[in-house]
Amino acid sequence: MTQDSALPAGSTIGILGGGQLGRMLALAAAKLGLKSHIYCPDPQSPAFDVTPFKTVAAYDDTAALKAFASQVDVITYEFENVPAQTAEILAGLKPLRPGAKALAISQDRLAEKGFLASKNIPVAPYRAIHSLDDLKAAAAEVGLPAVLKTTRLGYDGKGQRVLRDASELEAAFNALSPHPLVLEGFVPFSKEISVVVARGLDGSVKSFDPAENVHRDHILYTSTVPAELAMIVERQAGMIAKAIVIALEYVGVLGVEFFVVETDGKTSLIVNEIAPRVHNSGHWTEAVCLTDQFEQHVRAVAGWPLGNPQRMADVVMQNLVGDEVDMVPNGLDGDTQPHLYGKAEARPGRKMGHINRIVRSSV
Ligand code: AMP
Repeated sequence: MTQDSALPAGSTIGILGGGQLGRMLALAAAKLGLKSHIYCPDPQSPAFDVTPFKTVAAYDDTAALKAFASQVDVITYEFENVPAQTAEILAGLKPLRPGAKALAISQDRLAEKGFLASKNIPVAPYRAIHSLDDLKAAAAEVGLPAVLKTTRLGYDGKGQRVLRDASELEAAFNALSPHPLVLEGFVPFSKEISVVVARGLDGSVKSFDPAENVHRDHILYTSTVPAELAMIVERQAGMIAKAIVIALEYVGVLGVEFFVVETDGKTSLIVNEIAPRVHNSGHWTEAVCLTDQFEQHVRAVAGWPLGNPQRMADVVMQNLVGDEVDMVPNGLDGDTQPHLYGKAEARPGRKMGHINRIVRSSV
């Protein structure tokens, strides 16, 4: 289904997934006078708190998908692992944005790397692994250390192993399933950055400033903006992000994660992965940008003109994981903007909210 004009206020955005990203998209939509209908199998989904329109059903429930599609004007999602068949059913009934191509590529690390390499975008050296023999040959070619990853369904460091020695290959191969896998050369990065970029229905592209990301226990801990980068590297990151959304004929917001590598005094960028959705490393935008990533995504999928992503101040976003959420409210000061996701139980490793600390005005 296509629809080329802007949806009027009062229209309904269908959102697959009821986590914090879906919740923040629904809040942004409400601000623009748009309604949101959340589709999620989990009845406890945090996004259900912020809109009365919901479907609790499995992603392979064709009847529920059809009923959902009949009640919305456009469909988007907050996670990239939407089953291909779900996407196909929905895309036949209402516009699905971002489209099926972006989903297919970002669900599979091999397809993603192949796509990026075909566009001359730098990625780590990689090999497809279907057998232990493949892994032995690939380790000899790519060299160790290297990182072995599942091609699908990996996140927050799950589904991957760093291989430092040939004696570790067999155990790692057996531990990671389902196969196939991908072996990536270990990138000796100096830092990790990300760019959140948006492409509108009219083809216009706007990106947010790069964020410098620090992980803890494989989970994003802080995103600091501005990233400490030479202007030319910052520009290059923006250009790569732009090239990706153009090549995908993308509509919506996309996150691009990069490794920054210093070799002989020269800085280069390698794309680690892309995410066809609003991104955790873009949560800072809600505190300091004229248009934040959630509003930008809603504008794009609703066919509205993109907003200005200009940053008005320096900022550090910190995820509140597990019981760190207890710092709200008593640990807050006037320069700290909290955003809690309304999750009932603060389990270890669970993202419960984030705070944006305004560091100083830079304008
Ligand atoms: P991913 O799930 O691919 O985003 O990987 C999670 C984290 O593992 C990244 O943010 C990096 O810190 C680290 N990592 C992943 N791939 C590599 C690599 N090829 N070289 C070095 N570190 C990596």
